[in-house]
Amino acid sequence: MQRYFVEPGNMIAEKVTITGDDVSHITKVMRSSIGDKLICCNGLGRCVMARIEEMTKEYVSCTVVEEMSETRELPVHLTLAQGLPKGDKMDWIIQKGTELGVFAILPFRSSRTIVQLDQKKEEKRIDRWSKIAKEAAEQSHRNRVPEIHKLYSWKQLLAEGQSYDLVLFAFEKEDGLSVHQALTEISREHHPSRILLIVGPEGGFSDEEAREASAAGFRSVMLGRRILRTETAGLYGLACVSYFYEQLGGGD
Ligand code: SAM
Repeated sequence: MQRYFVEPGNMIAEKVTITGDDVSHITKVMRSSIGDKLICCNGLGRCVMARIEEMTKEYVSCTVVEEMSETRELPVHLTLAQGLPKGDKMDWIIQKGTELGVFAILPFRSSRTIVQLDQKKEEKRIDRWSKIAKEAAEQSHRNRVPEIHKLYSWKQLLAEGQSYDLVLFAFEKEDGLSVHQALTEISREHHPSRILLIVGPEGGFSDEEAREASAAGFRSVMLGRRILRTETAGLYGLACVSYFYEQLGGGD
């Protein structure tokens, strides 16, 4: 059954209104009819099965038939802070990260970032990345669409990290602590609700940035024994967290 994400304000009580590009997908691509059913999610965790009541060129209005209780979200909110990569690697990172359950993506600039984005370019990229996240969330039957943050500086990221229960700083020179060990350690104290995983750009992190991350209380972790491309590293880290909580039942 086709799944669509709607703005939270378009899913009130038993009424759902679908607008934008999804309208032509329903009417022209899926060639749906009045009475057909589809799944709608408000991006904040509520998903419903709904019946089509009215279709126009501008909107499709539906009535809720059933609340969908199944959740496909990770039991922790895992945000990936991704060093801005070159080219269209971020498209890939966002699509695969969404399938792996990422809660939000936070692009940042650091000392070895190559890409220069002016305000206009940044807004266009974030708009495109948000569309990729929405499509990947629909395809992977997520209950929510990962948020794409605005571009952070390294200093802003150091400050932002203070609001997380655990910050995993993926450092290519780290050969001690694994993600599994870091999650096991914190789970002995409490079940973290917000985790931040930080991955550097193609050029990696400077020793100064590693020192600043450590001073900020971030846990420097290794992602296996090989040097991963930036577009692989975050996915490896996400898979470790998913495996720990969804396969091993970590924290239960
Ligand atoms: N320029 C670095 C070098 O040659 O050693 C490689 C940087 S790597 C392409 C990009 C980012 O992926 C790193 O900054 C780090 O965040 C992450 N990464 C890659 N392999 C890793 C590993 N084995 N352990 C921890 N982090 C890793």
